[in-house]
Amino acid sequence: IHNDLRQQEKLAVIGQMATAIAHEIKNPLSSLKGFTQLQQEKDKGDEQYYPIMLNEIDRINAIVNDLLILGKPHTAVKTHKKLVDIIHYVITVIDPHAQRKDIQMKYDVDDSTVLLCDENQLKQVFINLIKNAMEAMPNGGTVTIHSKIEDGRALISVKDEGCGIPPEKLAKLGEPFYTTKQNGNGLGLMVTKKIIEEHEGTLNIQSEMEKGTIVTISVPTFK
Ligand code: ADP
Ligand code: MG
Repeated sequence: IHNDLRQQEKLAVIGQMATAIAHEIKNPLSSLKGFTQLQQEKDKGDEQYYPIMLNEIDRINAIVNDLLILGKPHTAVKTHKKLVDIIHYVITVIDPHAQRKDIQMKYDVDDSTVLLCDENQLKQVFINLIKNAMEAMPNGGTVTIHSKIEDGRALISVKDEGCGIPPEKLAKLGEPFYTTKQNGNGLGLMVTKKIIEEHEGTLNIQSEMEKGTIVTISVPTFK
């Protein structure tokens, strides 16, 4: 028991440090992005590396944002929002990327579902799930988002036709830094889980090898 407590204290300190460092990185990173964009303007005609540089800066920023969400206990600021508006927004953002990868986005979301939620965090949840779905289908396919109401809760699923997850790996999902991807960081599902838990929700993953994966979240609805 004593060791357990020491371990927990250690983890708490590591979490606080991660949050503090993440916070310190945000400002210089944002200034780096600004100056990179300015220099790109000046270098018009010879700017081949700028899109890569800006993309990498955005990647660092996304990791830092994930760490901030993971490090803080209660970051959700909740208001009433229509689920369909959140899904529309996310699909609009992702559709250009999807089209380039031969991926079709389909959705069938109940128009009247209202959630008490942190809109930006919930957008992040769907972006994380849809990105995983797309990355599981390197040769294209369909991502389907579906919602229904059951016993006062919204069940929202993101389904893909991708590679699937082997049963022995299913248990590891959501562990920090667990990734099977070259370019992954293994934070997406952890952040997703944390946000869903802050919304009194649950997350369930069903997967069949070579057939695909369905991730279903269940959150309370407000009518
Ligand atoms: P990352 O995407 O950076 O690897 P995630 O936390 O989002 O981190 O996902 C962790 C791992 O879970 C992925 O590397 C992948 O192996 C597996 N995974 C998650 N979603 C899916 C999916 N829809 N289909 C197949 N594997 C998935
Ligand atoms: Mg991911």
